[in-house]
Amino acid sequence: MSEATLTPVDAPSAASGAAAPAAPAQGAAIPQERRLVTEIPGPRSRELQERRRAVVPPGVHSVLPVYVDRAHDSIIVDVDGNHIIDVCGGIGVTTIGHTDDAVVAAATAQLGKVTHTLFTMTPYEPYVQVAEHLARSIAGAEGYKTLLMNSGAEAVENGVKIARKFTGRPGVAVLEHAYHGRTMLTSTMNFKAAPYALGYGPRASDVYKAPNSYPLHDGLSGAEAAARTIAYLEKTAGAEDLACLVVEPIQGEGGFIVPADGYLPALAEWCRDNGIVFIADEVQAGMARTGTIFSIEQFGVVPDIVLSAKGIAGGLPLAGITGRADIMDKSQPGGLGGTFGGNPVSCAAAVAVFEQIAEHDLLAEATRIGATFTAGLTALQAKYPAIAEVRGKGAMLAIEILKPGTLEPDADLVARVIDAAAQRGVLLLGTGAYNQGIRFLPSLKMSDALIADVLSVLDEAFAASV
Ligand SMILES: *Cc1c(COP(=O)(O)O)cnc(C)c1O
Repeated sequence: MSEATLTPVDAPSAASGAAAPAAPAQGAAIPQERRLVTEIPGPRSRELQERRRAVVPPGVHSVLPVYVDRAHDSIIVDVDGNHIIDVCGGIGVTTIGHTDDAVVAAATAQLGKVTHTLFTMTPYEPYVQVAEHLARSIAGAEGYKTLLMNSGAEAVENGVKIARKFTGRPGVAVLEHAYHGRTMLTSTMNFKAAPYALGYGPRASDVYKAPNSYPLHDGLSGAEAAARTIAYLEKTAGAEDLACLVVEPIQGEGGFIVPADGYLPALAEWCRDNGIVFIADEVQAGMARTGTIFSIEQFGVVPDIVLSAKGIAGGLPLAGITGRADIMDKSQPGGLGGTFGGNPVSCAAAVAVFEQIAEHDLLAEATRIGATFTAGLTALQAKYPAIAEVRGKGAMLAIEILKPGTLEPDADLVARVIDAAAQRGVLLLGTGAYNQGIRFLPSLKMSDALIADVLSVLDEAFAASV
């Protein structure tokens, strides 16, 4: 594997970044290798961090204040010339890799044609193409229709809005450990008050939080956990007051929690029996990451509404609300939309993402990457007893870090391992309401060799931290 060297190579262009680079050529020129030329963060990054402190509030926090100059596929090049392996992808956004050539080409072509008319003024084809792709992507669904917005939180807001319109009910049910965004409604829907809702009240009304399925901690079968969730909601909310149940099939920020078998089908059945709209928030788990376009497919559930964002447009902002025609059609003309929703450049990029998934069989690649990572992480688990569990699906994986022999999270160890990996040029991210895990969201084009390097760095990081 590539060792960190001190060879000063590939210094970035002028610090102020005056000239717009010819992106595809530059991206392709970045070798898929880890290479450090300074400490992390380097001097240029530290300088920028000082400038930033004067003009950006601390509420906008950066996990690793390494300033990025450019990136391609799995490698981020910082302003000091360090080549860092990105195992986060901007939290599952650059799912098919940074500056994917096809995405860059499609977005560039669209930039030169038209960048904005407002779909609700004068429409354009790429929006319709994305809606067609999404309709085809939900296994078992027919005739689903799509509204496009800009962000995951907007997707959640609109999913709730559409479900309320359809049912005429106010209640929104969510699960413990959930994360749905940082707008006023979604910050109420999150499990964690801090940092997302604390001090920003009043919070939204009619949001009900129910226990989830968390097999490592609750030891319940899917049927038992579902019975608990349902009993809780019937008691605290009342089924007939619920417009929707919003569920991440695999909880993302919550810790990559995979529910026990049968949990989601039982919830979906209860929703169906009670006229509650079942909304799958696939913002993090979706877009091919788990080995199917949407992860819910692997749980055998056909959701009424699917929310997508993060990975949908290869790094450009776009979000989809895709649902049953009878539900989606209930909103009056003008009731749905927004100035930038379904921007043509983002839509062109999203079409390229769908085409890349098909062309390069990225569903199978997600499975390959998942298998390679799982084997390596399981080997590390045998070596480091703090790794309580290796879990996930496809290329959405996490390890949970507990104090050995207990169910007590070891957030300090998580932080030390992530820091030690960053010092060695691997960008990792924690996960979980108690910071009890480390998540892996690699590019679906990451090679086995690069994965092996990530795993060897992780091994070193654990050895240096336990
Ligand atoms: C990130 C995320 C959101 C919010 O998306 P934004 O684009 O940050 O608004 C919503 N739901 C889930 C599951 C997410 O992971």
